[in-house]
Amino acid sequence: MSRFWSQVVRGLTPYVPGEQPKIANLIKLNTNECPFPPSPRVLTAIAAELGDDAARLRLYPDPNADLFKAAIARTHGITTQQIFVGNGSDEVLAHVFMALLKHEQPILFPDITYSFYPVYCGLYGVEHRTVPLAEDFSIDPADYCGQPNGGIIFPNPNAPTGRLLTLEAIERILKTNPDSVVVVDEAYVDFGGESAIPLVDRYDNLLVVHTLSKSRALAGLRVGFAVGHPALIEALERVKNSFNSYPLDRLAIVGAVAAMEDTAYFAQCCAAVIATRETLTAELRALGFEVLPSTANFVFARHPQRDAAALSLSLRERSIIVRHFKLPRIDQFLRITVGTDGECKALTEALAQILS
Ligand SMILES: *Cc1c(COP(=O)(O)O)cnc(C)c1O
Repeated sequence: MSRFWSQVVRGLTPYVPGEQPKIANLIKLNTNECPFPPSPRVLTAIAAELGDDAARLRLYPDPNADLFKAAIARTHGITTQQIFVGNGSDEVLAHVFMALLKHEQPILFPDITYSFYPVYCGLYGVEHRTVPLAEDFSIDPADYCGQPNGGIIFPNPNAPTGRLLTLEAIERILKTNPDSVVVVDEAYVDFGGESAIPLVDRYDNLLVVHTLSKSRALAGLRVGFAVGHPALIEALERVKNSFNSYPLDRLAIVGAVAAMEDTAYFAQCCAAVIATRETLTAELRALGFEVLPSTANFVFARHPQRDAAALSLSLRERSIIVRHFKLPRIDQFLRITVGTDGECKALTEALAQILS
């Protein structure tokens, strides 16, 4: 605290990201990154952009990242007027809270969800009401129907539970809240879920948020986007152009385009993660863990006899890091990112040792 701090800064409770340790040879299963490198085409595109004419970095990038918007439009069969892009989906989400969720009524999100949402509420002064997940950690769409609200946001699949909501359930929420923006954060949808993007033509209150950090293996490049009715996109552009005209740098734009275009590599990575997730789930269950059904690139698991914080510490002593949240209802769970087959095998072998 300092006398130079503004009133806003004094009141903030910032988000704490999962650790990025500086130690080598760790098995890092704590922040849901892709265990595989990005498409080789990404590196080629970035090298070409730097290329013989590195002087190009002298020039500002395209403020609208038109080439990237065109690649997203082709991938999802939508128009560029339906697309907003940003420096990671975290930045996209920040603009969403300011542009579309700050109203008279409190917004709604699950009690157990992405812990950045309440942080944005604090930053922008957005009132919120949390809606408890059902006993089995699923979202009940009925809980979002019939209470007045200033907007609704949830990840699908939800984080950190990994549980998926059907498009039918999402449509029910959209139909019963025609005057609220419903934001579906699809950070993990490529690992077996069904995207709500095809619904944007039918619902002017739907905004779908994607990231290239998970399924496209580009967490380090910082690229995310949102898809929705052009009027919603215009609101986001207004905030963006009042904040930072160039959220995507030159390397990010060409890298993101290459990642979107390498559909075969993308499909192969997602399929590999899904297969490993199923093996990991079975092996954890064999060790006595209760594992929630996951449609993401992580699993959420608890052991009925072992304290989760203690398990997390024992794993760390064996150079394996997973995520543990000291939060009500979930403090006995571990969130484990699906790594390579080898990493997951090392994890289950370490757990078998710890449990014996
Ligand atoms: C990882 C994640 C994000 C943020 O992704 P970035 O694009 O890396 O900022 C957003 N929402 C959820 C639910 C996530 O898990």
